[in-house]
Amino acid sequence: MKNSAKKKITKKKSPKTLAKEKAWRYFSKYIRLRDCDAHTEIGKCFTCNKPHHYKQMQAGHFIHNTSATYFDEMNVNAQCVRCNYYLGGAGAKYRKHLIKKYGKTGVEALEERAKPGTVFKISDYNEIAEIYKTKVKQEVEKEFYE
Ligand SMILES: [Zn+2]
Repeated sequence: MKNSAKKKITKKKSPKTLAKEKAWRYFSKYIRLRDCDAHTEIGKCFTCNKPHHYKQMQAGHFIHNTSATYFDEMNVNAQCVRCNYYLGGAGAKYRKHLIKKYGKTGVEALEERAKPGTVFKISDYNEIAEIYKTKVKQEVEKEFYE
């Protein structure tokens, strides 16, 4: 290990963390592509309505830190960095816009789904990754065939 002594020592991620990160990469890309125009790749931030390129957007959660709705398509929408990161998700506005899109009962159903207790296994993450890998492909292909 002498040669690698100079390398920055980073904590090795667990296989589960890596699986979750992979699932999130595909899921996040799908959400951002879904919320942006297939040709221009520009979409509006879910909470502030400002247009951005999908690569500059983040997939922002309405309900945070709950496994049950972590990969819920309704709970995650394209947001600008300001809204998602600096405004912590812009929760109040987020809820208002979700109600506009899904109705009050839809949002309440989502909040009901967000109950704690869901535990993902590596196989669950792998399954999510596969599903969204396909969905990303379909979104990208829209650009060519629409
Ligand atoms: Zn925004």
